[in-house]
Amino acid sequence: MGIENQRFTNLRVDFLTNAAMQSILMEMPLAMYACDVNGIIKFYNAEAATLWQMHPTIGEDTWRAVWKLYRQDFQALLSEEFPIFRTLKLQVRHSREELLAERADGSIRHLIIYSYPIFDENNLFNGAYELIYDVTDQKKARTHHQIISSVIESAEDAVILKDLQGLVIGWNNGAIKLLGYISPEIIGQHISQIIPTDRQKEDEQIMELIKRGERIRHYETILKHKSGRWIPISLTISPIRDENGKIIGVSKIAREITQEVAVRKMLELYNKKLKQENQYKDQFLSLASHELKTPLTSAKAYIQLILHNANKHRKYYTFATKALLSLGKLENLINGLLDVSRIKIGKMTYTMAEINVRDFVENTVEDVRQFTEVSRIQITQLDDSRVMGDKLKLEQVLINLLNNAIKYSPDGEVVQVAVKKIQNKVVISVSDHGIGIPPQSINLLFDRYYRVNHTADNFPGLGLGLFIAAEILKKHDGTYWVESTLGEGSTFYFSLPLS
Ligand code: ADP
Repeated sequence: MGIENQRFTNLRVDFLTNAAMQSILMEMPLAMYACDVNGIIKFYNAEAATLWQMHPTIGEDTWRAVWKLYRQDFQALLSEEFPIFRTLKLQVRHSREELLAERADGSIRHLIIYSYPIFDENNLFNGAYELIYDVTDQKKARTHHQIISSVIESAEDAVILKDLQGLVIGWNNGAIKLLGYISPEIIGQHISQIIPTDRQKEDEQIMELIKRGERIRHYETILKHKSGRWIPISLTISPIRDENGKIIGVSKIAREITQEVAVRKMLELYNKKLKQENQYKDQFLSLASHELKTPLTSAKAYIQLILHNANKHRKYYTFATKALLSLGKLENLINGLLDVSRIKIGKMTYTMAEINVRDFVENTVEDVRQFTEVSRIQITQLDDSRVMGDKLKLEQVLINLLNNAIKYSPDGEVVQVAVKKIQNKVVISVSDHGIGIPPQSINLLFDRYYRVNHTADNFPGLGLGLFIAAEILKKHDGTYWVESTLGEGSTFYFSLPLS
């Protein structure tokens, strides 16, 4: 008989009926019950009843009545495997065993059960009692803790935990990989060891925010690797709270962003270079257009002179007229380039005056008709209206739309112009029945140099007209839009506020 089996020697199970003893055991904050040699329950305390969630009848019910027991793998225990049964049978203490109990309501508790034999004054075996520890809550907390620890351990990102004084209290594999320190080297050290001196203040300010319960995401900083190398990092910083919600520390989840930073730097550099080159190109365009324009203007003047004196020589007259027409086209292209340069540097000047839209549209259409069959352009509606604007510039817009409508309907279909007064605006539209525009290109038409891919090769142009038109309309508080069906034709609209 082991020493522990002596504990209740010289007592009989009846001792439990002793009132003083019972009142002590009753209040004991540990579940306890006792039975006689037949397993009939003779006593149980309040804690046991709470744990069982039942009140077995004393002197009648046996230990079998209170619950089912399982091993931790949920294998049911046979009756003869119950701790109390073994103690009753073998008359020895049955020591600690962690079991699961299924109670009357089906709920499961984690228990540690000790059962002890009871001997009477003649050393005769007299019964057994059990002490039952309910460890469910600890078990849950432990499981929870284990899950969290294993998630943190296996996280790819570095997880660094520190207390409110700044001492490192947690350091996972990710942190080892990222910053080079193994846990024993850094745990208990001050976090400032891995923070650059000029960022310590910043870290303190962040700590103040965290202490107030705030969380900081994607904060970019640098941390010091064990080797002394600085590593660009994106940090998410959150408070750690105890079970009462009190903030007791800080977690930092760090992700290396060396590559992102390098790519960003490269992009910035690239962008700067691109801007620079764009600027050079714009300067070049502006210069080139000026340089082209001067000889062009003088060539035009000379040809006009020739034209003036060539009446007698019909052949020269035709040549000179053709040369003049080509120079005119060249002049238009150069003017376009010059306009773009002016727009880029904000030097496009506007002379605003009231315009009678009716006259303006009629005259402009008439001008364009000189270069095409007269019947090609029809005016279908012409509402009376007045707007404030730069007449020459607006003429440029309308001429561009008309020329495009003609150019992009190569089979000579009719082009229709309409002027409609709608509320406080006048809407001018130019419709053609030409090649149309694919939907994905519509929003790009007004970009500088943009030309629809499959048409660009078949028609002359620089892709500047609509860009300039858009700029001019914006300066007039106007709007513009396009409706088009590929293969069927397009309608370009612009609206201007009425004066
Ligand atoms: P471009 O000198 O190339 O005509 P624009 O800026 O006037 O320059 O027009 C830009 C592009 O929009 C053109 O290259 C063409 O692809 C498309 N486009 C413009 N007007 C029409 C139209 N009426 N029908 C079909 N495509 C058009």
